[in-house]
Amino acid sequence: MVRLAFERRALDIVPFPALLIDKDYQVVFMNKSAEELYTNDGQTCYQISHSFSEPCHLHKDHPCPLKEIRERSLKEYSVLHRHKTEKGEEYHLVKTVYMPEHDLFLELHIPLEELLSAFDTAPLRPELLIDSGPLAFFLWENKEGWPVRDASKSVYDLTGYTVEEFLGGKIDYASLIHPEDLERVSQEVATYTNANKDFWTHQPYRIITKDGKVKWVLDHTVSVKDNEGNIVGYYGYVMDISEFYEKEGLFRLLLENNPNGVILYDFQEDKIVYANRVFLRMLKYQEEEVIGKSVLAFVDSKDLERAKRLIERGTVVHRKPLEVILKFATKTGKVKWFKLVGHVVIYRNKEHLLITLIDITMERERERRLFYLATTDRLTKLLNRHAGMKIFENLLYQAQKYGVPFSLLMLDIDYFKKLNDELGHLAGDLALRKVAKAIKKGIRKSDIAIRWGGEEFLLLLPFTTDPLPIGEKIRKLINAISIDGYGFLSVSVGATTYREGDTIDSMVQRADSALYSAKRKGKNRVELA
Ligand code: GH3
Ligand code: MG
Ligand code: MG
Repeated sequence: MVRLAFERRALDIVPFPALLIDKDYQVVFMNKSAEELYTNDGQTCYQISHSFSEPCHLHKDHPCPLKEIRERSLKEYSVLHRHKTEKGEEYHLVKTVYMPEHDLFLELHIPLEELLSAFDTAPLRPELLIDSGPLAFFLWENKEGWPVRDASKSVYDLTGYTVEEFLGGKIDYASLIHPEDLERVSQEVATYTNANKDFWTHQPYRIITKDGKVKWVLDHTVSVKDNEGNIVGYYGYVMDISEFYEKEGLFRLLLENNPNGVILYDFQEDKIVYANRVFLRMLKYQEEEVIGKSVLAFVDSKDLERAKRLIERGTVVHRKPLEVILKFATKTGKVKWFKLVGHVVIYRNKEHLLITLIDITMERERERRLFYLATTDRLTKLLNRHAGMKIFENLLYQAQKYGVPFSLLMLDIDYFKKLNDELGHLAGDLALRKVAKAIKKGIRKSDIAIRWGGEEFLLLLPFTTDPLPIGEKIRKLINAISIDGYGFLSVSVGATTYREGDTIDSMVQRADSALYSAKRKGKNRVELA
């Protein structure tokens, strides 16, 4: 009990009511402040501080902290109570602590008025916020060179110049800006000022500090307007972003030295924001002709629709790396084949597509050349027998499976041995070329002309059920070819159309026998089998 007596006296120096209460709500001690404030008669806490005749928790908005502590086995609990005091009604934060060694509750009634007024003594101190924050603040005049009219102390950390040096006119803001960036910044200021904007953020630019160091800054400007709404000055919040930009510098260095084309594409705004030198060189554009443009502006018109769908799919839907082959067009209209690999990356807090472009035009051309060489007959430039056979197989398959009809013409030049014998092999070759040319002239785009053997040709005619008219047309065209010292060429033609159950062999055999019959009947004619 000695300790308790000591604690009781200690409570007298607490500047607000403090009460010791037992578990039956009996107040066993009140400090001086409580005695002064609560003049209500009674033995219990609810009588003394509320003039209630029963415990608080039976009254609206008066939860009983003792009850809460007991029921929930807490150490302490706080509630908000409206108390009846000498001064009238007062709101208190009631903080109750259970003291198990005495089996008593200590209640502190902290006046909210006092709590609130504590904030009054800690007002916002803008000068502190401004001077010690991470940003440098400027107030610039809308005048040549942007003289500084006011600034935070932190401008020294950013620029190396003190506020006094700025205010004394030793340096104006424009002379702080890197000469290479000044014109751009001036243009931005002019644009926003002419548009009478309230605020804007500049594209990052460089400043040069008093000791000659280059720093990248982000400048958020708020315009200061006079009563007529004219912009007379600017507040600038300027932040050092050099560290970020040094990283970006490294990133750019890597991209610049990439042997492939690289572009950074803001797909939400449909704008290229960066293109490396290789990309510019590949397409023969200047940087300013590319930046800000849609990536689609450089895709070959034949691939445009596909490119649109790919970008949609690669970015908006799947967010998967994009890998695709697309044709691009150079500034001079030359078509180039690119393999594109795209990834969605975050750049300046925004999703972009980082696209690497590998020029595969040479490979494509080589492939095409090889394909051409492998499938084309050197002398006549018609399909060779091997390539022709593949197409024959396809047509046969489609005829068998889907009933798509097709016909076949087998041509053999008449008396060709004689021509060779009389004029020589070279003249024979020339005649073969002329025949091939005439054949090409006589057939449709969808028809296939094959050099089947020495002076034999096979023509495949898809969707054709009556090959006779085409056969006749070609016979006539060839018969119009005149060879010096020899006379007119002629061919015999065997024609046939696909029938159910046909194979390549059966069709060729039929055409062959038709051809044989044409030869037998006197040559320079078309026979059907
Ligand atoms: P036919 O009217 O019965 O067809 O008699 P033909 O003389 O044309 O006889 P055939 O069809 O058997 O002719 C084949 C000849 O074609 C043999 C060969 O000298 C010639 N020939 C085959 N390939 C070539 C070639 O690439 N160049 C040249 N100049 N002649 C060729
Ligand atoms: Mg022959
Ligand atoms: Mg012949």
